Amino acid sequence: MLNLLNYNPLNKHKIIINKINKIHHKLQKYSNIKLKEQTNKLKLELNNDRSRIDSIIPEAFATAKEAVFRGTGLLLFDVQLLGGIILNQNNIAEMKTGEGKTLVALLPAYLNSLIGNGVHIITVNDYLAERDSILAKHIFSYLDTDIGLITQSTNYNIRRKEYQCSITYITNSELGFDYLKDNMAIHKNDILQRNFYYAIIDEVDSILIDEARTPLIISGTTEIKHNFYEVAKKASNLLKSQNDYKIDEKSKNIILTEKGVSFCEKFLEVNNLYDINSPWIKYLINALKAKELFLINRDYIIKNNEVIIVDEFTGRIMEGRRWSDGLHQSIEAKENIKIEAENKTLASITYQNLFLLYKKLSGMTGTAKTEENEFINIYKMNVIEIPTHKKCIRKDLPDLVYQSEYHKWQAIANECSDMYKIGRPTLIGTTSIEKSELLANMLNQLNIPYNLLNAKPENVTREAQIIIQAGKKYSITISTNMAGRGTDIILGGNPHQITIFKIKNYILKKQDNKIIHYHSKKDINNKLDDKSIHFLQNELEIDHNNIEKEVKNSKKLEKIYIKLLNQYKELCQEEKNEIISLGGLYVIGTERHESRRIDNQLRGRSGRQGDTGTSRFFLSLQDNLFRIFGGNNIDNLMNKLNINDNTPIESIILTKSLNSAQKKVEAYFYDIRKQLFEYDEVINNQRKAIYRERKKILNSTFTRDCIIEYAEYTINEMLTLYLKKNREKIILEQIIQLLNIKSNLNIVKTMNLKDMRYYFFEQLRISYDLKEIYLEQLRPGLIRQLEKYYLLQQIDKGWQEHIEKMSLLKEYIGWRSYGQQDPLIEYKNEAFHLFINMITYIRQTVIYLIMRSRLIIET
Ligand code: ADP
Repeated sequence: MLNLLNYNPLNKHKIIINKINKIHHKLQKYSNIKLKEQTNKLKLELNNDRSRIDSIIPEAFATAKEAVFRGTGLLLFDVQLLGGIILNQNNIAEMKTGEGKTLVALLPAYLNSLIGNGVHIITVNDYLAERDSILAKHIFSYLDTDIGLITQSTNYNIRRKEYQCSITYITNSELGFDYLKDNMAIHKNDILQRNFYYAIIDEVDSILIDEARTPLIISGTTEIKHNFYEVAKKASNLLKSQNDYKIDEKSKNIILTEKGVSFCEKFLEVNNLYDINSPWIKYLINALKAKELFLINRDYIIKNNEVIIVDEFTGRIMEGRRWSDGLHQSIEAKENIKIEAENKTLASITYQNLFLLYKKLSGMTGTAKTEENEFINIYKMNVIEIPTHKKCIRKDLPDLVYQSEYHKWQAIANECSDMYKIGRPTLIGTTSIEKSELLANMLNQLNIPYNLLNAKPENVTREAQIIIQAGKKYSITISTNMAGRGTDIILGGNPHQITIFKIKNYILKKQDNKIIHYHSKKDINNKLDDKSIHFLQNELEIDHNNIEKEVKNSKKLEKIYIKLLNQYKELCQEEKNEIISLGGLYVIGTERHESRRIDNQLRGRSGRQGDTGTSRFFLSLQDNLFRIFGGNNIDNLMNKLNINDNTPIESIILTKSLNSAQKKVEAYFYDIRKQLFEYDEVINNQRKAIYRERKKILNSTFTRDCIIEYAEYTINEMLTLYLKKNREKIILEQIIQLLNIKSNLNIVKTMNLKDMRYYFFEQLRISYDLKEIYLEQLRPGLIRQLEKYYLLQQIDKGWQEHIEKMSLLKEYIGWRSYGQQDPLIEYKNEAFHLFINMITYIRQTVIYLIMRSRLIIET
């Protein structure tokens, strides 16, 4: 770990930054063609040798810096170069919102792409992947470096091509699902991904921390057990909180009391609820969780008769994601909507383990410092704070704490009203849809116009427009936590986006009025140059067919764009000056989140690139965080201060104890993630071994060796059993049967162990040779195909059954009490046995099947 006291990364890397700038100065004079040649020159210098990467940093970064300049007209700041250096060192660069991280990523991406193994830039959603890749494509067209993009809508064939690019933009979930699918491929040619080399994760805390608790799962469906869900729901409605079960809000768990257990046993007519062969406990606990802990419009919404998860950190809906282990179905039962089939996990991986597959891993975000320990312990990445280009002068005012939630919301509404009167833009962050709507209603009553940005689908589509407006005068924006996802609030508005918005609206209007004069396809294509098509497709999000219809002359459109842009630039600047004089963007937090990081993300919306700004949190003692985790300290303090309901307290001591409560929560969730990670590590090592074996088979052209190896292993294992147990006859019979050979048991019995082994090995080879000759005559090459087919099929089947058993094992370990035993150790031991059993089973079945394969030729 670095000693970060008095550590200024800018000083440490001063020499190298100077070198970059010096070379950049020289490159500025290069022609476009000469600049392009840099890529090949640097590749030759590197000569595929990773250890030389650091030596070419100055020249590679300088080259990328010049490409950025030619592509965008922006000159990268020194702090941005520093960010690039940190990213290349497998670390996390903490850079505040608006510091230009999108461009920073291009530096180490370019440098590492020169090795030729592919670089991945990981984003949290398709929108950002697409937006950033368009920019990168444009910039890297100056350097002959190809840029790929993979989103949910990228089809299979294009995907393969995009993965082959020097740099590929992709979301975390697409990357994960492709990884799992690749490891289920039946043919070598079906594999999409190359080995993972270097990744830069944007919004790294979102992906590696917030999403770390939900694994990626590829599943197949099995039958629906309607009845179980319905009966469990009935039981859960009869059970009473406190009496029959206790709710542990902290860990989102339910514990049945003895009374509850005996009620359930009677109700379900079972003897022992916790018997491993009885399925009920899982359904009951889920039904109770659905009843008590998972609430509509907070944890999920219902859209088109489906339960859709709301991300607890960002307030966004997570289409297509389902809670696992039957919880989702229990919620469907509670809401009386169609219960979807239960999923059987075919493959799964957590983001933690997915990203640990990279040889080099790095990340960037505005907020990571608070979780530094976790990044170091789990990912071996340090968090380095990069100084801002201009000093941040935002004022973070002390919290205001109210006795009751009611008074808190009153105060927030009044504050919005005051800000609206003076025209100061204000952004209010809420933790749930419900709360955002509560405030919206209060503002309605006060006649204050506002924009609402929450997880409801109808609002999400308007998101970009709402954000464009959020920095304008008089705008009041209510938003659920958006976790800083690529949205930049610019005071006075973003002239580029406003221009695009206006042109788009203009075109749409024209389309409605049918004023446009249509041209033939050929005519239009002649007039549109590539750049304009690109511009329209990407910026105006109009597809090619529409462009053909709508645009007379692209040059004209570009001119309009530039003209409008200049006008809006002026207007926005004027407005910005006014807003600055009012104090800049005012951010109001309405509840402390479970982690300081999320609060910092909200605060970070204000005060970007040296702007003035303010942030303040309005809290109440009834807020979840303090109710659950605050303990008596805070209550006692409030009583001592002896204040009435209406008066907020702005006390440093109180803020301190609130901070420590929040830290407690962070530590608590970290422990959960750590525990999850430790448990997951067990299955992760097993997964790696299985995938390695699978890949070996998939790539092998001579699988016979593998079959013989499996058979010899099996014979050895069975002979070991033969020695241990007193069941000689049966074991020998089993071996003979498995190998499908004709041997005289009585003769074999007389042999010593060594001879026996030799005998079986030899019989195996003879028998297999005969089979091979027989099949080879009928259909040449068939035996190799058969071998591969059986091997892959049995490995996949064995592994899928294994992961199901592992997930059951984890549940049961949790329920069983082990006294002094550490459940993790117990889990590891049992998991090991399950794994060995699986391997044995796979080997035996493959041998059994292949030894019995025959070719039936239909006539
Ligand atoms: P972040 O992701 O760090 O919040 P972005 O990458 O979205 O920031 O960039 C924020 C804004 O700053 C963008 O409009 C971008 O064009 C601008 N920007 C980035 N780097 C520079 C630079 N060197 N000079 C001027 N503007 C820049």
